[in-house]
Amino acid sequence: MAASAAASPVLLRGSPGGSDPGGEERGGGRPAGAPRTGSERPRVVIVGCGFGGLEAARALHGAEVEITLVDRANHHLFQPLLYQVATAGLPAPAIAAPVRHLFRHQPNVTTLLGEVTAIDAVARSVRLADGAVLPYDHLIVAAGATHSYFGHDAWAAHAPGLKTLADAFEVRRRVLVAFEAAEKEADAARREAWLTFVVIGGGPTGVELAGTLAEIASRTLPGEFRHIDPSRARILLVEGSPRLLQAMPERLGASAQRQLEKLGVEVRVGARVTAIDAHGLQVQPPGDAAPYRIASGCILWAAGVAASPLGRQIAEATAATVDRAGRVQVEPDLSIAGHPEISVIGDLAAARSYVAGTEPQPVPGVSPAAKQMGRTAARNILLRAGGRPAQPFRYRDWGSLATIGRNSAVVDLWTPWRRIEFSGRPAWLFWLFAHIYFLIGFRNRIIVMLDWAWAYWTSQRSARVIAATEPGSPGG
Ligand SMILES: Cc1cc2nc3c(=O)[nH]c(=O)nc-3n(C[C@H](O)[C@H](O)[C@H](O)COP(=O)(O)OP(=O)(O)OC[C@H]3O[C@@H](n4cnc5c(N)ncnc54)[C@H](O)[C@@H]3O)c2cc1C
Repeated sequence: MAASAAASPVLLRGSPGGSDPGGEERGGGRPAGAPRTGSERPRVVIVGCGFGGLEAARALHGAEVEITLVDRANHHLFQPLLYQVATAGLPAPAIAAPVRHLFRHQPNVTTLLGEVTAIDAVARSVRLADGAVLPYDHLIVAAGATHSYFGHDAWAAHAPGLKTLADAFEVRRRVLVAFEAAEKEADAARREAWLTFVVIGGGPTGVELAGTLAEIASRTLPGEFRHIDPSRARILLVEGSPRLLQAMPERLGASAQRQLEKLGVEVRVGARVTAIDAHGLQVQPPGDAAPYRIASGCILWAAGVAASPLGRQIAEATAATVDRAGRVQVEPDLSIAGHPEISVIGDLAAARSYVAGTEPQPVPGVSPAAKQMGRTAARNILLRAGGRPAQPFRYRDWGSLATIGRNSAVVDLWTPWRRIEFSGRPAWLFWLFAHIYFLIGFRNRIIVMLDWAWAYWTSQRSARVIAATEPGSPGG
């Protein structure tokens, strides 16, 4: 389905550089009151169908615009539950939905599978990896973020991160293969290395991964192996800052650590990873203590995030600035200075929230923020097309939550009246229902509910099948 200039009328329509955002020039001969034809409507190109892009396209439902939604994946991914696929708790289709299917009832959306590689702000077009060109009158870029290894890109081969379905499959493969390799390893030290799982990064994803790995080792796998005892596996969570869940109140970070330790996870805070290779990692503990090495056959990265490389592309094309994480600095209305026709939203934007009478606040890289930005960017396109001024972005923060394992979670909820913090089983139930509610698609909600109910009563994980693969050799 890759877009090609010859095959797709969308790519040939109009001339790049058309400067009639309202479509009025081209619609000049239309009798008053007659509906606009497709070629008269403003062309909106949305790059990325994650949380921001999906919401922007939906917010333009029924609007007199022609939307081209282009994504390098054919699915929208519910990233908050990606760790469940990575730990064999859910099958991939439960948390991913085909973009084409999502917009089957929205006729003003054309969906294209393709990777945007360049933006030409003068010609007003984006270029795809296959050379196709998409002209736009309005552009919304919602290409999200990727992993950052803080300048140590070679670590990626030894410690995969979690961002896409492909990442989740790779993490799942490594976790399951490590237990298989331990089962047939005769050397005690190497066996121990295979049974040592290290998660780097103590944010929500690291906490979720470590807690779930502990449950797999202690509840799912025992009884299935003959030469190893999976419940003796070591799970370590290594975090460079002094505490877990930095974005949440200190009390909840401490509660998460206690809940993890109850599950048997060794939590090492204030510990900086200084090297990673195929056989383990080097850790610098806090203070003057000597660095030490951990031999491990399965290291997972949940530590750093950087904006999509498209951020720098946009900066080059428009003279916008990017911050240290590569996020594009946007105006209060999410557009780029000097380019009101380009909006950058979601994890790719260094945006601020504007509330009258208060200092603008930085917006966090979370899915509710991306969705709200998507709605604002869409609304601003319609306001501008109607000759009205665009509105500044205002982020409504509902708080945050993270799960640790069965019956364990932490919740920091911001209601209109007061802030509520809670943890343990009530928090876990809240987390469970919130995630089912926000999943895309009725079918997915049912699959997830059934899988979780099954997992709760049996401690089994339903998605443990991996393609045949050979383990490497940790610990030399
Ligand atoms: C493992 C994990 C767990 C998370 N958990 C939570 C959570 O519990 N709660 C929460 O609020 N947030 C969570 N987040 C953060 C949240 O998912 C992001 O803030 C949110 O996805 C940002 O939305 P976005 O639209 O900016 O980008 P994304 O949702 O990442 O979407 C970007 C889209 O752009 C596409 N794309 C990228 N580059 C190109 C290109 N060049 N051409 C075409 N398409 C492209 C991608 O394929 C993708 O579909 C989590 C993130 C991860 C990775």
